Amino acid sequence: MDEKLFSIIDSLEDTHRLPLQDYEYLVSHRSDEGAMLLARKASAIRDSIYGRDVFVRGLIEFSNICKNDCLYCGIRKSNSTVDRYRLTEPQILACCKQGYDLGFRTFVLQGGEDGWFTDERLVSIISKIRAAYPDCAITLSLGERDRDSYQRLFDAGANRYLLRHETADKAHYERLHPAAMSFDHRMQCLQDLRDIGYDVGIGMMVGSPYQTPHELAEDLKFIEEFQPEMCGIGPFIPAHDTPFADFPAGTLEETCYLLSIIRLIVPDVLLPATTALGTISPLGRERGIQCGANVIMPNLSPVMVRKKYMLYDNKICTGEESAQCRTCLDLRMDKIGYTIVSDRGDIRREKSGSHGGTHV
Ligand code: SF4
Repeated sequence: MDEKLFSIIDSLEDTHRLPLQDYEYLVSHRSDEGAMLLARKASAIRDSIYGRDVFVRGLIEFSNICKNDCLYCGIRKSNSTVDRYRLTEPQILACCKQGYDLGFRTFVLQGGEDGWFTDERLVSIISKIRAAYPDCAITLSLGERDRDSYQRLFDAGANRYLLRHETADKAHYERLHPAAMSFDHRMQCLQDLRDIGYDVGIGMMVGSPYQTPHELAEDLKFIEEFQPEMCGIGPFIPAHDTPFADFPAGTLEETCYLLSIIRLIVPDVLLPATTALGTISPLGRERGIQCGANVIMPNLSPVMVRKKYMLYDNKICTGEESAQCRTCLDLRMDKIGYTIVSDRGDIRREKSGSHGGTHV
């Protein structure tokens, strides 16, 4: 028994923060016993805030066109084998209608950094969704934009923004991205989003190339300081025809271990059990929920485009209709004692305007 590990876990549960070196110890001394203890504590704290409800977000992947070349990404601009598409405004609105009828109360508009989607076009789409579904949350996942753009989209009715930081270590960031992309700009975007008033989601890949326990410890410290409303983490999964095609994937065990740690750092965080987790293991999403997650993000995109939005290889749920996905997830959650609810799934946190000592 690793007494030091258990004492660090107890301290994290009590204070929701740790020195960087303790995060590193936690990550590098993972054991089955420690993982079980963390999962129990993470589930208990999630249950005390959200009960056994699982929130669903309807994901609409509206463009796989991107000007960027992130080395890990299957739809990076240099990948000439990708069949590119854009959904039209009527197609996006039809996805929302179908999602609403299936009980979704959050829509996530996700796409590559596609310059065709100007502020004007996005404002038109967002304001129509806002007018048609005033009881729903609108989440954007559109990458880096300037502050004015974020403000216009917020004013049009968007509430939340997902922008994974990917790694809190600048040197590591530069090994995962081309020189044209900047760690400092990514951090500036996150601060802009927060200042404007979005609920902000950050996150990273687990097991990404060149990642060590030290980088993961930095990620955990960053999460502690930023206090995100949402945190999306999933295992790195290599994508063919990318520079990282031959790197090994991250693991279910390490991802679930980190989900539990993140729940203890930010008890009220909205934490998805990602599709990537379900891709590396048939029961990955269930395991994620059992380790402290409380969100699932099924796909609402038209089936005809789903196989074209392959950020990584072998992504699941690309052949099913949205209604089939919804039924499948209801059954999966029911089997492990959780219930998918028809709810916006807002964070249960007092907004004080102060988020602690964030360093972005
Ligand atoms: S990760 Fe996002 S920004 Fe990077 S290449 Fe892929 S779609 Fe573009």
